[in-house]
Amino acid sequence: MAEIEGARQELDRAVECLRAELHRLAARLTPAQDPDLYMPSDPFIVDWHEPLLYQYHAAARIERPAEHYDATLATRAASLLTSAGWQVTDDVTDAGSDTELTTVTADRDGFRVRVRIQRGYGGVVYSGQTPAMALYTPEPFVRPDPVRTPETVRGGYVLCDECDGLGWCPVCEGRGWCPNEQHGRERCPECDKDRLCPICQGAGKLEIAQLPA
Ligand SMILES: [Zn+2]
Ligand SMILES: [Zn+2]
Repeated sequence: MAEIEGARQELDRAVECLRAELHRLAARLTPAQDPDLYMPSDPFIVDWHEPLLYQYHAAARIERPAEHYDATLATRAASLLTSAGWQVTDDVTDAGSDTELTTVTADRDGFRVRVRIQRGYGGVVYSGQTPAMALYTPEPFVRPDPVRTPETVRGGYVLCDECDGLGWCPVCEGRGWCPNEQHGRERCPECDKDRLCPICQGAGKLEIAQLPA
């Protein structure tokens, strides 16, 4: 896999933009507390079709006593984001109940920002994600050479009849996954990520003395 030039830097810049957006939003909505953003150090792979797409996620929870619950916070979040050019949607679950949960979701240029409040709870959850970006150019898969051939299998051994001497899992051919149209990749049913032929464990050959009669 070759790194796409500049892609990593672009994703890093996207992370900084996301951070800045979330802090800016929090500064307006919950000015007394700056969110302590949690962001895993590595991006998630969010699309397993080639080229794989990578995305960073960030989240922070502002903890406040229940009396800080403010039903207008969601409306204010929506209007702030709308006026900053975001496409905003509101979602209310369990409307009218004691645990009514309101989520404001905003999308812009591949970024997503979310603000979530729950009735009876003073806290606010901020979260967001960067655009999903390709970091590497896909390379065509090259089937590995067999570790054994009829010429290299010596006395007392035969070629493994499961993999014909490949040594690698004959189903995924050593990738540990199989291509899947819908999901991009799926777990290999034969080796379950192990990559080796489950019968010869990579040897490509089997000892005749050990074979069942
Ligand atoms: Zn396999
Ligand atoms: Zn084998």
